[in-house]
Amino acid sequence: MIILEGTSASEGLAFGTLCFDTREDETPMFDIYLIDNTDIPKEVERFEEATKSAVGYFRKLAENFESVAHNAIFEAHMFMIKDRDYQDSVVSIISRKKVNAETAVWDTAKIFEKKFEQMSDPYLRSRSQDVLDISICIINFLQNKTKAHKVVGQELVLCAEDFIPSQISQIKQRGVRAFISKYGSYYSHSAILLRTMNVPMIVNIGDDLHPYMHGKDAIVDGYEGKVYVEPDESTIQELSQRNENYKKLNADLLKLVHVPCITEDEKRIRLCANMNTFNELKSISKAGADGIGLLRSEFIYLDRDSYPSEDEQLEIYKEVLETMGDKEVVIRTLDIGSDKTASYMNLEQEENPALGRRGIRFCLKNPEIFRTQLRALYRASVYGNLSIMFPMITSAKEIREIKKHIGLVCQDLADKNIDFNENMKLGIMIETPIAAIMSDKLAPEVDFFSIGTNDLSQYTIAVDRQSPVMNDICNASTQHAVMRLIKNVTESAYKNNIPVKICGDMAFNEELVPLFVTMGVNELSVPPAKVCKTKKIIIGMNTKNFKDHVRFL
Ligand code: PEP
Ligand code: MG
Repeated sequence: MIILEGTSASEGLAFGTLCFDTREDETPMFDIYLIDNTDIPKEVERFEEATKSAVGYFRKLAENFESVAHNAIFEAHMFMIKDRDYQDSVVSIISRKKVNAETAVWDTAKIFEKKFEQMSDPYLRSRSQDVLDISICIINFLQNKTKAHKVVGQELVLCAEDFIPSQISQIKQRGVRAFISKYGSYYSHSAILLRTMNVPMIVNIGDDLHPYMHGKDAIVDGYEGKVYVEPDESTIQELSQRNENYKKLNADLLKLVHVPCITEDEKRIRLCANMNTFNELKSISKAGADGIGLLRSEFIYLDRDSYPSEDEQLEIYKEVLETMGDKEVVIRTLDIGSDKTASYMNLEQEENPALGRRGIRFCLKNPEIFRTQLRALYRASVYGNLSIMFPMITSAKEIREIKKHIGLVCQDLADKNIDFNENMKLGIMIETPIAAIMSDKLAPEVDFFSIGTNDLSQYTIAVDRQSPVMNDICNASTQHAVMRLIKNVTESAYKNNIPVKICGDMAFNEELVPLFVTMGVNELSVPPAKVCKTKKIIIGMNTKNFKDHVRFL
């Protein structure tokens, strides 16, 4: 057994096989051989049986995902498998070339991949990946190796130098158990995504994480930041037992779902959940959250080949709002740039993208893209309790510019007799030191503040949150500086009579939660899996015990 150590970026225990290959188009291993004329019907029959199994397999995957958007992916796979041209091509290759079914499926996959790649429509072009995906699945069923299907593997621990958010959102749909990386940081968006999905991640393992470990069994302990490669029997037993204990603890926490979030001295705190992908909708509803405090809308824009249209966005926002009923949903407008990009966006290359044109700076420079999202949001506003907020704000001037775009969008909707809520609440994220320091000047311009402690920390400490340096440099004294800024923001919000929320990851920090509550923060928004844990801290505290601590920050 080898024990690898890194930094825990997302808690949880996972058992799986280490996989260093995250490429989706890997050529499957199979024998190529010629068959006799008399074997043709048998090969066609094998292909038909494997096709049925693959359809059943994707149907099961589709059932595992509650959102329409994700179901649609696997529905499309099933549709493609049954496609007449695809089926005819495989059967014809078996008969004409007298090859085994595996060879005919892979030849067909390559023919269709080329056809899709030559299409001008970017959506259809991207279907080339799907045809490879379904073909690999059929080949695996032909070989009775469903578990080895790399793309939809059920028990894989993915290993890489580092992960980018679009990789995570693609791969999670396919059921990977844990992520571990050589580099990376707790504060990266990939880690945030996985914490919200409740999938274990360990970063910063260093060179000990070596590709020769590919294919070995492992246990990932996301609580302790350890990976046990080829674990011995006693480790397996110990960690299985701990897993049972964690499950019991979680079951106990779930008893708090319907308990109101009120401190011992009767201060009521709104406790909301963050949402990064649409798979989390069910867990948010179950977690007893008061609403969605941060929906990171940029994840709608990743993992695809072109900008989502107004109607596509509307469908997604509508689904979320209708599911949440009268609970508030705060959707943050596109916060693209830095580590969150997709190749179709062609973002300009910058030396320091985290300090460049990201978030609202990108949107204000690209009004078409911004207004498409605003139109979708305003149209969606009639389907539930929607508020919107804007990332990376640094000045009142930006807020006024945003409001001009909103004015144009609303005027156009009104001219076209399209319903929308003209009184939708507009908030800003306080995630740059300048916004925190000048919060008294920004407060009169907006309906609420939401503090993004992840960015506020990186910009205050001057360390890229992607960098492993962040793991080392974040400590009590750097946190202290950020806490002073947060206290200033809370005071500005209080004086201007607007609510202040925290949606960055400090919002579930066990030591800081009582301080936020005592300072007068009105709402905390945390990953769905942390809602009950955070509630436990709040219902067990009394603000009188933390007053001095806050006063002397
Ligand atoms: C933050 O910066 O704290 C935040 C909530 O936004 P993100 O992590 O998506 O940048
Ligand atoms: Mg941020």
